[in-house]
Amino acid sequence: MLKQHGTHGLKNMKEQQLIEILEGVLGGATMTRDGDEALFHCPSCKHHKKKLSINLPTQKFQCWVCGFKGHKAYRILKKTNASPTHFSKLHDLNKSYNFKKVKTYVKENSLQLPQEFKPLYPTTNDNFHLLAIKYLTEVRGLTQLDCIKYNIGYCDSGLFKNMIIFPSYDSEGDLNYFVGRSFLADSYIKHRQPKGANKDIIGFEFYINWNLPIILCESPLDAISIKRNAIPLYGKKIHDTLMSKLMSSSIKQVYLALDADAMLNALEYAEKLIGFGKEVFILDFGDKDPNDTEFVDIINILHSSKQLTYSNIIKRKLSLVR
Ligand SMILES: [Zn+2]
Repeated sequence: MLKQHGTHGLKNMKEQQLIEILEGVLGGATMTRDGDEALFHCPSCKHHKKKLSINLPTQKFQCWVCGFKGHKAYRILKKTNASPTHFSKLHDLNKSYNFKKVKTYVKENSLQLPQEFKPLYPTTNDNFHLLAIKYLTEVRGLTQLDCIKYNIGYCDSGLFKNMIIFPSYDSEGDLNYFVGRSFLADSYIKHRQPKGANKDIIGFEFYINWNLPIILCESPLDAISIKRNAIPLYGKKIHDTLMSKLMSSSIKQVYLALDADAMLNALEYAEKLIGFGKEVFILDFGDKDPNDTEFVDIINILHSSKQLTYSNIIKRKLSLVR
């Protein structure tokens, strides 16, 4: 038996807030009698009945028609193309309350943002905070929405003191990596990565659509500047998890947006990907960094980039070793 609860009858604030966030993107919910499960219209198969069931204490969900399922409400928001406001509400909710992990779902060595992490929005009058925003928006051309969407923050003390923090989330919305980046002219250390963290991850996986062309670039700032389906490598190497995802997924086109000094690596990867039937393109930024390049320029560069073949890979390799 199901009964309609509206906004009443929930056991606690945490579950009440979760329902409200989901109702914002999926429409009204129907509660089960014990109040632990809520039923919604499924954003995946769009069945006319409420077939998406979510367990409120854990956020685990499943559609009984199409099988769309997961362990985090982030996935539902992603499926509905929810606005950054919805994401930031859910992010705050997850930060304030502990949603029990499903027993079979324990991640090893779960990575945490630095204790001193503060999000860039909402803003404060802190001087470094204002400088960080000015740098990202005025110098690098990011928008406020970019900063909210990627949960960009900063630290004013600790190991990552005076650095901007770029988190990366996996497909379930769990943190899988982050880097600190200093932008101050007198800073001694420019980049800092979390000690011992596993780099064999897919950067920004949470935002990646595996049905569209993928762009691989070096840093998270490059990826955000490119503004379309870009994965940061946190270096010049394509790690195993990403390589096997690229090879096994149905994506047809891969664009490599790496610095000129990584060209030889890039050509090796290109050869491998072509071997798996992918069309590979190299973006030619000349002497510029992707994030020194205007968005309009990036579109032009994307459109003008040439598809690599085995024979022009060989030519390029020869010209590099000469
Ligand atoms: Zn469904």
